[in-house]
Amino acid sequence: MKLTFLGTRGEIDPKTKRHRMHTSLLITYQKKRVMIDCGTSWLKKLKSLKPDHIVITHAHPDHCWGLKNGAPCPVWTTKETWKLIKSFPIEDRRVLLHRRRKKIAGISFEAFPVWHSIRAPAVGYRIICGDVKFFYVPDVTWIPKIHSAFRDIAFYIGDGATIIHPMIRKHAPSGQIFGHATVRQQLTWCKKQKVKKMIVTHCGSGIVRNEKRAIKHIEKLAEERGVEVELAYDGLELIL
Ligand SMILES: [Zn+2]
Ligand SMILES: [Zn+2]
Repeated sequence: MKLTFLGTRGEIDPKTKRHRMHTSLLITYQKKRVMIDCGTSWLKKLKSLKPDHIVITHAHPDHCWGLKNGAPCPVWTTKETWKLIKSFPIEDRRVLLHRRRKKIAGISFEAFPVWHSIRAPAVGYRIICGDVKFFYVPDVTWIPKIHSAFRDIAFYIGDGATIIHPMIRKHAPSGQIFGHATVRQQLTWCKKQKVKKMIVTHCGSGIVRNEKRAIKHIEKLAEERGVEVELAYDGLELIL
C-alpha cells in the first residue's frame, strides 16, 4: 500500500511549494487508486489524476468543490454530504453509512461522525488496507467515538489548522462545539489512546507561514507526549 499526500493545505490563502493543493490523500492498493477529498484546487486537475474512486469527508469547498464539474469515477460519501452537493453533476453517487464498514477497491472504510461544522456534517474514516489500520480526519474538533476509531491503529492522520491557538466556537442555539482542535490536543488524544504516531495534514497559516518554526514546535509537543509526529507536505509518499 502506498499513501500519497496529494495536497496538505487547509482553507487558507497562504501557500508554498510544500502546501499548495487542498488537502487530499491518495491510497494506492493492488493497482487501484482511491482519492480522499477533492477541494477547489483539484477542479482542473481531476481529469489527469484519474482516480478509481473518490471518498469525501464533508461538504466544505476545500474538501469537495473540485467535483463541481462532476467526477470521472464513483464518488462515496455520507447522506448528509450528498444533500449539500446534490447540484454537482456527479453520475455515480455511492452512500456510506455511519459506522458501517464498506470495501472500496479492496480497502475498508468506516465513517465516524466527528464534530467540525454545523452546516457541513463531517466524518473521519477508519481505514483498513491489507494489515495496516489508520484513521484519517483532516478537519476535526472532536471524535465522539474516539476509542473505537483509534483502536489498534498504526497512526492517526489529523488536522493541522492550528498548532496551539484555539479555533473552536460554540453554536449558540444547539450548544454544539465546532471548528478545529489544535495539534496539541490531537497529540494528547494519541497519547491517551496509545496511538504511536500522528501525521499532520490540512495545514493552517501557523504551519505554512513559517514551517521550520512550526515543525520544531510540533516536535516538542509530540515529544512531551511520547508520540511520534510527521508533518505531511504535497507529494509526500509513504510505502507501508
Ligand atoms: Zn478543511
Ligand atoms: Zn471543513
